[in-house]
Amino acid sequence: MSALLQDPVDLEKERLGSPPPAQNDQLAGAVVLMPDGSLASSSPGYSGIAEHSTPAHAFLEHSTSILFPVLFGTNVYFSFDRLYELKLLWLAALAIPLAFVLGDFVGGLVHWAADTYFSEDTPVVGPALVKPFRQHHIFPRDICTHTLVSIVGNVCILAVPVLALCLFLLWVSQHGLLAFAILGTSLMAAATVATNVFHKWAHQERPSAGVRWLQRLRLVLEPRHHQLHHTEPFERHYCITNGWLNPLLNKIRFFRKLEAILRFLGIETNASKRLAKNSCDNPRM
Ligand SMILES: [Zn+2]
Ligand SMILES: [Zn+2]
Repeated sequence: MSALLQDPVDLEKERLGSPPPAQNDQLAGAVVLMPDGSLASSSPGYSGIAEHSTPAHAFLEHSTSILFPVLFGTNVYFSFDRLYELKLLWLAALAIPLAFVLGDFVGGLVHWAADTYFSEDTPVVGPALVKPFRQHHIFPRDICTHTLVSIVGNVCILAVPVLALCLFLLWVSQHGLLAFAILGTSLMAAATVATNVFHKWAHQERPSAGVRWLQRLRLVLEPRHHQLHHTEPFERHYCITNGWLNPLLNKIRFFRKLEAILRFLGIETNASKRLAKNSCDNPRM
């Protein structure tokens, strides 16, 4: 079928590989879980499958989701205090926008890597990172049915050890630049943790008035802007915190250049591997 006539969701399934047969069977008889918890027989963008973490993973998600705001607040308080003591408070004004831009960039980089390389079977990152992104491309509105802990938990698991290290460094060193770096890192971690909340809002059918206001101001991811990631060729607009960096990264073809560097180092994208496999299976194509 011509790519132009094909449904974007089908194209996306084709790009990422179809779900395993067991999942298709599940889908055939699935009832759809709506964001308000009600059930519906069908609705675009929802799989109807409620996924659950293993007990160990759920424990990590919940405990780090509680620890994260405690460590974040402590780091921000003490780094502000240190900058105030050293009369360097102006650095705090610089840290805030810098953290939002860096948070957008780090989130975009991780998203691009999960979309472009690895598989759902890759140890650790496969189930924790790759699978949620791939499922999201096929069923974009499933994210609206997820709880706060399930959407921020994985990032909190990574962010809590970083913030614990920052607090330790703040304790042992009085340096002003270190306090600035820790304030920036803490704010960036908060932006990264909030990314999936902003991403969820961008997929909601009826976001609240406050959320729509933040989206209009482009302080958080704007739905039409994000929709471009879910549109052919599905390889742009990876930044999903506020999307500020997407126009620049698209313009300089940042991710294509990164892919070219990795190709030079012998690391192929999933799409290239699939193309090579198809031409081996069908040599006349
Ligand atoms: Zn994606
Ligand atoms: Zn999305």
